[in-house]
Amino acid sequence: AKAEGGGLCRIFDPEMGARVRERRILEHDLRFAVERGQFHLVYQPQTAIETGEVIGFEVLLRWHHPERGNVPPDRFIQIAEETGSIEAVGEWVLRTACREAASWTQPLRIAVNVSAVQIHSARLSGLVREILVETGLAPERLELEITETALIRDFDRALASLHLLKALGVRIAMDDFGTGYSSLSNLRAFPFDKIKIDRSFIMSVDSNDQAAAIVRAVMGLGRGLALPVLAEGVETQGELAFLMNEGCQEAQGYLMGKPALISHFAHVVDEETTA
Ligand code: C2E
Ligand code: CA
Ligand code: CA
Ligand code: CA
Repeated sequence: AKAEGGGLCRIFDPEMGARVRERRILEHDLRFAVERGQFHLVYQPQTAIETGEVIGFEVLLRWHHPERGNVPPDRFIQIAEETGSIEAVGEWVLRTACREAASWTQPLRIAVNVSAVQIHSARLSGLVREILVETGLAPERLELEITETALIRDFDRALASLHLLKALGVRIAMDDFGTGYSSLSNLRAFPFDKIKIDRSFIMSVDSNDQAAAIVRAVMGLGRGLALPVLAEGVETQGELAFLMNEGCQEAQGYLMGKPALISHFAHVVDEETTA
């Protein structure tokens, strides 16, 4: 009975009670957030390092909760995955992003985050096909960002899912490379079109030798596998200079632009071509 004492105390820990309550509220409210119009998307430019030109945008989800204000995705995506809400939320993100991109004058790319639950759902490739038909977006303009952790949950199903998506002509990027359960064999096994190096390595690339060594190694891997590499979270000219020097092709981060409403980038996506 003594040994249970600590556990009992924790159950009545008021802070923990508040966390559990908070989670229940988010869980519940997530189920209605799509129909209540509480989500919107922000867009962050991805640029070609050599020319500085915008080549596309990553789409990032924002939830405006009526009482809690803006809830960051790091707080609610996991809950949505665990409770199944991610299916409806992910579908809304895909459809809204593709419809938006299809309306641009410039045929820029749109990168959409896809969670593990979506990858393992038999519905995903059918849904993507349906949305491409419905919006008229050219498949090669859609890039799905997938983390390794999402893939290893059920290797065979994930592989089958990616092949179906590739057959539609959409692109697949390996997201957050270097974090989680990185394995080089995943890079060979899955049909990726791009590697995204995680922000945590870029952050300290110009001050930390280990981070620099890891970025160099990923660049070598990209060259060996003929995969372009995008560096995420680029904040300074020094970081950009390092990446350019290492032959990194693409960059994304506050230096090139913070995520913002698409109206903020109207001049980029609707620029008249003067060729
Ligand atoms: P992520 O896929 O790694 O997305 C990049 C995150 O880094 C974004 O955070 C972005 O705002 C932030 N970021 C970009 N550049 C910089 C920079 O230069 N400095 C700093 N400090 N941060 C930068 P955000 O929007 O809070 O999203 C967090 C995570 O939530 C994303 O990480 C992604 O895993 C997930 N997420 C966001 N939207 C969606 C979505 O529609 N579906 C799914 N499944 N996940 C999403
Ligand atoms: Ca991403
Ligand atoms: Ca990341
Ligand atoms: Ca830095």
